Amino acid sequence: MTATRVLVLNSGSSSVKYQLLDMRDSSRLANGLVERIGEQSSRLKHTPLATGGESRERTGPIADHDAALKAVAEELAKDGLGLDSPELAAIGHRVVHGGKHFTQPTVIDGAVLAEIERLIPVAPLHNPANLTGIRTATALRPDLPQVAVFDTAFHTTMPEAAARYAIDVETADAHRVRRYGFHGTSHAYVSRATAKLLGKAPEEVNVIVLHLGNGASASAVEKGRCVDTSMGLTPLEGLVMGTRSGDTDPAVIFHLARVGEMSIDEIDTLLNKKSGLVGLCGDNDMREIRRRIDEGDERAKLAFDIYIHRLKKYIGAYYAVLGHVDAVAFTAGVGENAAPVREAAMAGLGSLGLAVDDGLNAVRGDEPRLISPAGARVAVAVVPTDEELEIATQTYALVKR
Ligand code: AMP
Repeated sequence: MTATRVLVLNSGSSSVKYQLLDMRDSSRLANGLVERIGEQSSRLKHTPLATGGESRERTGPIADHDAALKAVAEELAKDGLGLDSPELAAIGHRVVHGGKHFTQPTVIDGAVLAEIERLIPVAPLHNPANLTGIRTATALRPDLPQVAVFDTAFHTTMPEAAARYAIDVETADAHRVRRYGFHGTSHAYVSRATAKLLGKAPEEVNVIVLHLGNGASASAVEKGRCVDTSMGLTPLEGLVMGTRSGDTDPAVIFHLARVGEMSIDEIDTLLNKKSGLVGLCGDNDMREIRRRIDEGDERAKLAFDIYIHRLKKYIGAYYAVLGHVDAVAFTAGVGENAAPVREAAMAGLGSLGLAVDDGLNAVRGDEPRLISPAGARVAVAVVPTDEELEIATQTYALVKR
């Protein structure tokens, strides 16, 4: 029997998201989520997509990632999709930080594990959880290829001029301070899907990808290769996000420490968790922000305006970086669903060839679609991202025989 299934695991510090796919036709067999791992109120939600069955939920303590993955394996086994199946070809792991070293998806061995571990200082929140997921899955199926797919890999093609900060080179290199970029799996998938929508090969087009979710990042993709992206050493840099500030003057940190008497950890929490849309208006959900704006809420309006202003600055910057732009693609929760964000981001950019057609922009859908007027110089598109499919595709390409 040919093994054609891939299990995709996205392990966070207290959660595991998973999806099982059959790579013969990229169909989804099951997906689910374990959250609040380590608490009394852990929850597992499992949806058996292959059989079209109802979602099942379990609540009650799940002590650690090991217990979580075992619970997932039990749920999959109930649907005849157990992890012991000979049809399972590999497990693909989302790994947030691959540094400069990992430019491609990689079959995990001891050396790869050690390198992911070495990167913990630049990804203290993410890489430890990713490592736990890998170790747990390996213990469950030691015979199976485990593949790491890195969020940073797509951005390793950035030229030094884009990747380096203008700080002392020796200090930067000693501490591996440079721009790595994140959401790479999404930027890779969406830039390729955008080329396909235009009927072109990825090597034939230049695309600005706007991944606007709770985390948000932009990238400039030239002929299929990333040449700049808005996130940096960590996901804090760049666009205004749900809870992250994005760009600020770095001296804000010195000022808050010296004058505000805040500790480094307090400032870290402020900028990563209490800033962005939530810091500006108390809400990070774009639906709620739009509802408040419709009711005349000034704070919500200001938060929206700051969000759009920053977005426009990046669109302009990447237009200049690329020189010629074939398409701007909106993706992720906000990008795919919030027509007012797309409209506001493109407003006034007609001289760059950018515009949206109001009728097309209002249409909802799950498929990639154009929202620019017929005959527009630059295509504007909504392209739903699919990071799980991209991880599964990259994983399978490495292991299939
Ligand atoms: P993501 O991180 O890609 O899952 O995106 C999550 C974010 O997408 C949420 O915080 C919302 O701000 C936004 N979002 C999701 N659905 C909608 C919608 N229907 N309209 C506007 N924004 C949405």
